[in-house]
Amino acid sequence: MVVCLGIPLDENSSFLTGTSEAPKQIRNAYNSDSSNYWTENGINLKDNANWKDLGDLKLSSMPAAFSEITNEVEKQVNQGHRVLSLGGDHSVTYPIVKGFAKKYPNLNILHLDAHGDLYDDFEGNKFSHACPFARIMEEGLAKRLVQIGIRTYNNHQREQAKRFNIEAIEMKDWKDDTVFEFKGPVYISLDLDAMDPAYVPGISHYEPGGFSTRQVLSVIQNLNADIVGADIVELNPKRDVNNVTAMVAAKLFKEILVKMI
Ligand code: MN
Ligand code: MN
Repeated sequence: MVVCLGIPLDENSSFLTGTSEAPKQIRNAYNSDSSNYWTENGINLKDNANWKDLGDLKLSSMPAAFSEITNEVEKQVNQGHRVLSLGGDHSVTYPIVKGFAKKYPNLNILHLDAHGDLYDDFEGNKFSHACPFARIMEEGLAKRLVQIGIRTYNNHQREQAKRFNIEAIEMKDWKDDTVFEFKGPVYISLDLDAMDPAYVPGISHYEPGGFSTRQVLSVIQNLNADIVGADIVELNPKRDVNNVTAMVAAKLFKEILVKMI
């Protein structure tokens, strides 16, 4: 069983707020009459007994919000559920992965992002959405981290990537025939800004030169792995245009969900 969890938290965003409205907007897009509930490989997700939407978490302010996220994810994981989370900004990935770590000590993470999110701290906030993968790696919550789509490393982040043995395929080096091989369980963390802002105007940080929607769909569809968890983060409905980014997020939600089922 896959459970879907909305995580409406944007307190750790460094530039703009708004991502706390994302889970609602992704659900609206998913349910929009403009499309249907079928995945591209022919599965109908409507009234499908293999997954369940648990709605949004009711969260306190930081720092309590993080332990609330970890506790709920851990509870679901211990019930044998796979968890697909809808952020929120990218800071939520650290408390989510913490909820996976006990049951999955050999977790692999595939991280799609324009940014490495590896800062030791960002503007004084260790829990900033610019830091989650530094926290995850220094606490040993993942065995292996593969980053793709990156196009903003500075010297500090390059050093961090080296220090944590991160395998990065920077966007400038991307090849469409890349095949990933993972031993053991995989967690997918999808920051929508991995895509070119032309495809996803409803994000906070525009970093041109990213993936197309189809390239991200291909990465997901071609992944031959045991996907135990995933998140889709950084949709900012305040910046969206005609809900196009919400529709992209809902499409990716469907395709990730069916892989997890
Ligand atoms: Mn990110
Ligand atoms: Mn990003």
